[in-house]
Amino acid sequence: MGLLTEGHPLSWEETKKHAQYVREHGVEQFINTYKELKDRRNDSLQWGDEVEFMIIRFDHEKKKVHLLLKAHEILPILMEPENQNPDDCTTLWRPEYADYMIEGTPGKPYGYLPVHFNMVEANMRLRRQQGQELLDKDEYVLSTSNFPRNGCPDCSWPTYKPTTDTSASASLFFPDEFIFADHPRFKILTRNIRLRRNSKVAFNIPIFIDTNTPRPFIEDFSIYGDTAGVNTTAAIKDHIYLDAIGLGTGCSCLQVTFQAQSIDEARFLYDQLIPLTPIMLAMSASSPIWRGYLTEIDCRWNVLCAMSDDRTTEEEGSEPLKNECFRIPKSRYSSVDCYISPDSAKYNDQEVVLDMNVFHKLIENDIDHLLAQHIAHLFIRDPLILFEEQLHLDDTKDTDLFENINSTNWQSMRFKPPPADCDIGWRVEFRPTELQMTDFENAALVTFIVLLTRAILTYNLNLLIPISNVDENMKFAQQRDALRHQKFHFRKSLTTEQTPDTPFLTSIQKNKSQEPEYDKTECEHCLMTINEIINGSNKFVGLLNIIQNYLSNIDLDADTQDTINQYLDLISRRAAGTLMTNATWMRHFVANHPVYKHDSVVTDEIAYDLLWKMTKITNDEEECPEVVRKKPSKTTLDVTAAVEQDNNELEIKQSLINNNQ
Ligand code: ADP
Ligand code: MG
Ligand code: MG
Ligand code: MG
Ligand code: MG
Repeated sequence: MGLLTEGHPLSWEETKKHAQYVREHGVEQFINTYKELKDRRNDSLQWGDEVEFMIIRFDHEKKKVHLLLKAHEILPILMEPENQNPDDCTTLWRPEYADYMIEGTPGKPYGYLPVHFNMVEANMRLRRQQGQELLDKDEYVLSTSNFPRNGCPDCSWPTYKPTTDTSASASLFFPDEFIFADHPRFKILTRNIRLRRNSKVAFNIPIFIDTNTPRPFIEDFSIYGDTAGVNTTAAIKDHIYLDAIGLGTGCSCLQVTFQAQSIDEARFLYDQLIPLTPIMLAMSASSPIWRGYLTEIDCRWNVLCAMSDDRTTEEEGSEPLKNECFRIPKSRYSSVDCYISPDSAKYNDQEVVLDMNVFHKLIENDIDHLLAQHIAHLFIRDPLILFEEQLHLDDTKDTDLFENINSTNWQSMRFKPPPADCDIGWRVEFRPTELQMTDFENAALVTFIVLLTRAILTYNLNLLIPISNVDENMKFAQQRDALRHQKFHFRKSLTTEQTPDTPFLTSIQKNKSQEPEYDKTECEHCLMTINEIINGSNKFVGLLNIIQNYLSNIDLDADTQDTINQYLDLISRRAAGTLMTNATWMRHFVANHPVYKHDSVVTDEIAYDLLWKMTKITNDEEECPEVVRKKPSKTTLDVTAAVEQDNNELEIKQSLINNNQ
């Protein structure tokens, strides 16, 4: 498959004109898929990860690190094996938004065999090596969610200056040359989001106030060429102002897709994973530095929501509705708005805006209320990019126009109906997770999520809480060091009424509990720390204990058992706060850097040292015991001991961090 196979993109005016056409045919395509495949059963578990790698370049003499704009050179080479022999590749490569990004997935999805857990990390490493081999001296493949100085002057190689008046995003900070250009999609998407909303995007991240941070903190944008002060109104004092799709979409993430046995299982899994999205966001936090400043946030999520927000002022509510159809509370990049399984309905406690034409059409075709609501909600959005060739498709055979809308609703979970023309079942995608600097951590997070899905299905668990509480958790999750300082809404008991006697859950709950259980008649959920959610407490079983129980009931060879234990050990310690998140470690690194002036500024030199250190850690040339500690191999996991062992050291580190605040 070449990079340029999509065809001829239409202008924004043309795309807009065809919006209704796309919706009508998109929904027709979904209905056809549904009718044909709603009874498809017994697909096996298959799953795969996606890693969006970042390529960077070091100038050791000048102590500078650059985003390396080279994806257009190396991607065609990386994709060559797939072009030669698509059915037999070890890895697959795709372009991403920026020319400093390359997206890699395993050549084939993994299957239900536990031994596949032994392949995840190795395949991630292989992908990294494949990229690395095509780079020159001082150029590296890194996995992390945000480049700390993206948008600063001179942050790329080669160097480009933003051309605010003529560029697709009209940004002061992010030049068009950063956008991957060998594929028209990304630049057009950028332009069309701006044209649709009729302004450039804007977001303000609260700056982390350190002892020497100027108060109020007000940036002078004239150094970026804004002599007229046009951006000054959009920027808020004591905040870092961002104004480009690419400052969000140019961030990287770690996604996992699962194939379910049936549409019902896919819907169940989609719902059950929703409450885990904020938890995994907080667990994986790796984005504390934005445009060269330390900020109050640790994650990319809300930045992406704002930077991909195509709503007009009428839609988002700052002007009365005149020309538009709906008020829309959230960006098309956002957390999930509604559960989709029949049993979940009572937890949908937020307004879900619907395209009623689409909704009625689905209901007329015997699609149930909840699924119809989900699709009709996705379809309130316009297509953002449309190719001439997509206009005359056969709705009984193609799913392109459905996917046009579905795949530009960038939500924390995605329900993926079977694509046309291939033998793939009903799938769901878990999308919030941030990237970690080591393959080991990325593999651990992925393995943990996959094991959770197995445990959820095996024990028929119920993790649901009202969707408004999940949204609140999304906010908590992104706060600085949320992992140790925030509490999250979580279900007190995961056993369902249908399975009151899931014996091991009840027994763990009993063993652990010296205190009376929560009163079941009051609220089903309460606020818990991530440590309680993952490792358990005297009141709550803990997700890791459920996974351990699941694992003890399946056949595992010693090797796989050992690999999994290593991963779960990392998850446990991170949840306990005894190992740092990447974000906390980065803050710590900056705070202790000799040239850091405690003014929130992450200079070129600090960023250079930070990323050089990360690159060494990534390539096993240096250890990072504050973040990753592999335990000596043995076949049983003693979570409590591991956590206790970390505790003393943590107190020392903690006092270091606190002193710097
Ligand atoms: P997208 O970008 O739309 O999410 P990608 O093709 O980039 O899709 O990634 C999809 C992921 O799904 C990959 O990790 C791939 O290995 C995995 N995958 C492919 N086929 C299946 C399948 N039948 N079931 C589950 N996962 C699959
Ligand atoms: Mg992908
Ligand atoms: Mg991607
Ligand atoms: Mg993407
Ligand atoms: Mg994906």
